[in-house]
Amino acid sequence: MTAHVVVIGAGYAGAGTVQSFEDEINDGEAELTWISEHDYHLVLHETHRVIRNPQTESKVAIPVDEIKSPETNFVRDRVTGVDTDDRTVELRDGEPVDYDYLLVGVGSSTAFFGIDGLEEHALTMKSLDDAREIHEAIRAAGEEATQNDPAQVVVGGAGLSGIQTAGEIAGYRDDTRTPLEITLVEGLDEIFPGNDPRIQGALKKRLLERDVEILTGDFISEVDDEEVHLGEEESMDYDVLIWTGGSPVATRSPAPISIPTTARIGSSPSRISRPTTTASSPSATPPLSIRVMTSRHRRRRRLPGRPPRSPAKISLARFVARR
Ligand SMILES: Cc1cc2nc3c(=O)[nH]c(=O)nc-3n(C[C@H](O)[C@H](O)[C@H](O)COP(=O)(O)OP(=O)(O)OC[C@H]3O[C@@H](n4cnc5c(N)ncnc54)[C@H](O)[C@@H]3O)c2cc1C
Repeated sequence: MTAHVVVIGAGYAGAGTVQSFEDEINDGEAELTWISEHDYHLVLHETHRVIRNPQTESKVAIPVDEIKSPETNFVRDRVTGVDTDDRTVELRDGEPVDYDYLLVGVGSSTAFFGIDGLEEHALTMKSLDDAREIHEAIRAAGEEATQNDPAQVVVGGAGLSGIQTAGEIAGYRDDTRTPLEITLVEGLDEIFPGNDPRIQGALKKRLLERDVEILTGDFISEVDDEEVHLGEEESMDYDVLIWTGGSPVATRSPAPISIPTTARIGSSPSRISRPTTTASSPSATPPLSIRVMTSRHRRRRRLPGRPPRSPAKISLARFVARR
């Protein structure tokens, strides 16, 4: 009997699994359905480039048709639940999809740590729509501002996402001569906390050279519609606030999919995703390297950082056991 495998999500976990499956599973042994709410794989760790230049969208959003083989059925829909007793995936718009094996790769969402007003007033940086929204917000704020009274852009959190976001906004400001003042706020004592002091120093130097102000040592404690409050006593005005401080924490699914906690729901994304760290270059824009390979069906793009296909095919049981 042909097993039905369902993969949810088109990030590194989902897209990587689809390509591995197509490369490795014996022909005819299993059928694959790939479900995601967007019909592209987003190169998430490069998406901040869209803030500076929306024309880079085509480099960071790879259509699923260029990744999967024609035999793989793609369903564009939002997953709302998984019934592990009936083995069905419930969709917002379409009919439920049955599965024998299921991989859930829906990513993580931003944590706001209960800070008053933060979720309400801050933009986040976790998707293509987020990057477009930040671009639009800084463009609009710049239109209202003058060189004598620049718009205040505050980026909360100086991990990789915050550093890259601040760097891209500085790039936009310099490309377009938009009057923006950019402040990067980090609650701990150093930017890129917990990492090599030499890298921290190099990043700090690059940001200061790009005229990004850095405030460390005070956590954002509250946000209202005009000010960001730092610690007990300090506050600063803002026109655009971007919160990246909760990015690495997977507190909940971006779409609260209901799955029983006892269910076995797929593999560890860390074995599949291979984004390249770009920490040493917060505002540079090197071209993305996306390898194009010829498959037996058509030209399909490899995901950035993925090794070439292995010609060896294996059984579905071995594929699942390895993950
Ligand atoms: C700005 C930024 C910079 C980063 N830089 C780096 C870096 O330099 N190095 C590094 O190692 N990591 C970096 N990361 C982290 C890295 O991008 C993530 O670890 C990685 O994207 C996680 O992959 P994933 O497949 O688990 O999830 P994601 O890439 O988030 O993919 C989730 C997928 O699921 C889909 N989905 C979600 N909910 C549903 C639903 N209900 N129904 C259907 N589909 C759904 C989404 O549309 C998406 O296709 C960065 C992240 C950000 C935001």
